[in-house]
Amino acid sequence: MAMTDLNATHDPGRRSFVESANQPDTDFPIQNLPFGIFRRGQDDARGGVAIGDQVLDLRALCTSGLLSEAAAEAACAASGPRLNDLLALGNRVASALRARLVELLAIASPHRAALSPMLVPAADIMMQLPTEVGNFTDFLTSSYHSTRLRPDSTLAPNFMSMPIAYHSRASSVRLCGEVRRPNVQQRIGDEVTFGPTLEMDYELELGAFVGPGNGLGEPLPLDVAREHVFGLCLLNDWSVRDVQRWENTPLGPFLAKSLSTTISPWVVTEEALRPFRVAAFHRGHEAPPLLPYLSSAVDQAQGGFDIRLEALLRSPAMRDGGEPGVPITDTNFRHMYWTFAQMFTHHMSNGCNLQPGDLLGSGTVSGPTPESRACLAELTARGTKPLTLPNGEIRSWLLDGDEVVFRGRASRPGFVSIGFGECRATVAPAVTWPT
Ligand code: CA
Repeated sequence: MAMTDLNATHDPGRRSFVESANQPDTDFPIQNLPFGIFRRGQDDARGGVAIGDQVLDLRALCTSGLLSEAAAEAACAASGPRLNDLLALGNRVASALRARLVELLAIASPHRAALSPMLVPAADIMMQLPTEVGNFTDFLTSSYHSTRLRPDSTLAPNFMSMPIAYHSRASSVRLCGEVRRPNVQQRIGDEVTFGPTLEMDYELELGAFVGPGNGLGEPLPLDVAREHVFGLCLLNDWSVRDVQRWENTPLGPFLAKSLSTTISPWVVTEEALRPFRVAAFHRGHEAPPLLPYLSSAVDQAQGGFDIRLEALLRSPAMRDGGEPGVPITDTNFRHMYWTFAQMFTHHMSNGCNLQPGDLLGSGTVSGPTPESRACLAELTARGTKPLTLPNGEIRSWLLDGDEVVFRGRASRPGFVSIGFGECRATVAPAVTWPT
């Protein structure tokens, strides 16, 4: 991370008059200020910014007279029921709002009385999808995940040359809640059957939201593409392994992935994450040289992120006993072989247009260690070595009623830690097939 990329909004000495934002364990200190869409009671959905256990209403702020120029433009663009218009304005405009927000929310802010009516307790609101997701693409960028899931335990021949992806479904992207076990085709032995999947899995990923994006036929170079990464969220790419195995050849993932994708509601901006940037993954000398369109000094030096990511599993028995979930994955985004800037520019490289609010999944964030395996297929060696949970329950795959919770947090000495909130969803039983 170049120190010049940091600014006054990253100052670890900053505190807010919102007391809960100053607690060391909060995900949303004044250094974070993520964007989301919320609804309170019968009011229209609108943009908000999380600060401690409160949410600042951007529609109210837009008309308050407390903002000028780009900051006002950003808040007003975020006043509607989706953030796409804000993302289309680009990171610099959102950055102007962020710079003004740290003044307005500061502990000694002269505007505290004016802002207080615009602050809503997070406990009183419902979150909604942050953007209208026009397209959702899911990558495969952990070499550890990719190796463990290949039958011969080697990387695919193209893995070290390009960030691999498939086009997934935007219509089934949802916030926290429930995910329904799908009915799918399976091949068991030589018999092909249809019914509720027996191999329901989670994949712990980060999602990246596209800022302004590019025109059709107009790719952007790597160091420009990186400025189109607006912000990140937690992403659960629910995966169904039995149908995945059966349908994958010759065209790749389809029903195994399109059933639904769950994301966390807050978009943590690229700017907020800058103190936690790290070098891109060290490729080693067995890797082919990076092609020029995927290579830049800046991206190699600071294209990665040091973000700790955890998955917890809470079974119905744990819930009934009032117990919290148990951690089953503890990993870090720095293990990813490709950077988001490389994913963005590769995605655009054939002229495909990325649009404001589009969502790109990083791929399962698995690392080298056993605890960093970021899906059950890895944790249980494709179901052959079931997990024994601390209460004695066994899991090869997810069962109905199981709740999966993701958390993410970025920390670095000398900076205030920021977090992503939660991505939480429960597996609901399959529907009875309609007759
Ligand atoms: Ca995935």
